[in-house]
Amino acid sequence: MEKRFIYADNAATTAVSKRVLDAMLPCMTEHFGNPSSIYKLGRDAERAITDAREKVAKAIGCSASEIYFTSGGSEADNWAIRSAAIRLGKKGKKHIITTNFEHHAVLHTCEFLEKQGFEVTYLPVDENGLITAEQVRDAIREDTAIVSIMYANNEIGTIMPIKEIGEVCREKKVLFHTDAVQAVGNVPINVAEQNIDMLSCSGHKIHAQKGTGFLYIRKGIPIVNLIFGGGQERGRRAGTENVPAIVGLGEAITAACENIPAKIAKVSAMRDRLIDGITKIPCSRLNGDRKQRLCGNVNISFLGVEGESLLLLLDANGICASSGSACTSGSLDPSHVLLALGLPHEVAHGSMRLSISEDTTDEDVDYILEVVPKVVERIRAMSPLWEDIQNGKENVQKPLKFVSPLN
Ligand SMILES: *Cc1c(COP(=O)(O)O)cnc(C)c1O
Repeated sequence: MEKRFIYADNAATTAVSKRVLDAMLPCMTEHFGNPSSIYKLGRDAERAITDAREKVAKAIGCSASEIYFTSGGSEADNWAIRSAAIRLGKKGKKHIITTNFEHHAVLHTCEFLEKQGFEVTYLPVDENGLITAEQVRDAIREDTAIVSIMYANNEIGTIMPIKEIGEVCREKKVLFHTDAVQAVGNVPINVAEQNIDMLSCSGHKIHAQKGTGFLYIRKGIPIVNLIFGGGQERGRRAGTENVPAIVGLGEAITAACENIPAKIAKVSAMRDRLIDGITKIPCSRLNGDRKQRLCGNVNISFLGVEGESLLLLLDANGICASSGSACTSGSLDPSHVLLALGLPHEVAHGSMRLSISEDTTDEDVDYILEVVPKVVERIRAMSPLWEDIQNGKENVQKPLKFVSPLN
């Protein structure tokens, strides 16, 4: 088969779409005014931001006054959690609930707050990468300031029962924040119906540019200022707005949410073909629940394979994939998400995430299905662990429990 170039790492970042770029370009050339200026050039820029804010609000079912533009998902996560902690910590609420498989933007914020005297409960996900609303209910205490639980996991694509968790938090009168970076555009979101108080989103995961995103904060929830200065973002986050990025984000989220059911139907069919085909490889395993799963996510572990070698050989064959998240690849530690599922290091280490999109084609899927088994075989031929497995060594019984049988 002829070598192809396939971008299968859309959970790491996406290409800016033509539609988004076309919306952005005039903001850099003709309509370059400062939104705070009173002449027409400035007012036009201001209007462009207002339009974008309305588009974002429409996409998640809130009002424009509840949207705060940020530099991305990490900033939104930091702001939401730290704001709640600063505000409620003063009232004696020094307990935070999250999960053990969040993005580092949430986990590292929680670790920082632990050092400031907060207590954090990291709810353990089950072996399929899910948590329940009951777990949240059982963990809530009198002094709980905020519950922060991701909508969908960036590595294994599992989708949490957000509406039910929101119901529990509302009933217990505890703030509920969700990192929805991977969910926006992939699952229908309505913050009002789903009882969400705060929601983080990133532009570059939905075909806008990098360095843009937003935090939704439900009306009436007091918020601590993030950046002091001018009156931008209602005085909460000062600094002249990144008009092109904001306009692009408004266009990107509109496009992403226009026809989610059709996207799910198209992309999940390709995802399922990839999962079925790749898990035919002996001693492989799908990570994350098969059903409660993002339409574009495939995450598979292979015993006797070293993740980095796998990615490099896939790259040599024109396939962009990743292991773990972009932030941890390059380090030799296995992903905290895969370890949270209970996978032993040997299994977690040999993992690959493919995240496909609407731009992926059936021919791309055919090509991946042809390349992956060959590459896995080639790496295993050089692996001492794989040799042990085939010789039936005792010490491989534990990792073997976690993967499909040899034959
Ligand atoms: C990418 C990602 C982030 C970080 O977003 P940035 O815009 O890159 O800061 C946060 N959470 C999840 C789940 C992500 O996938």
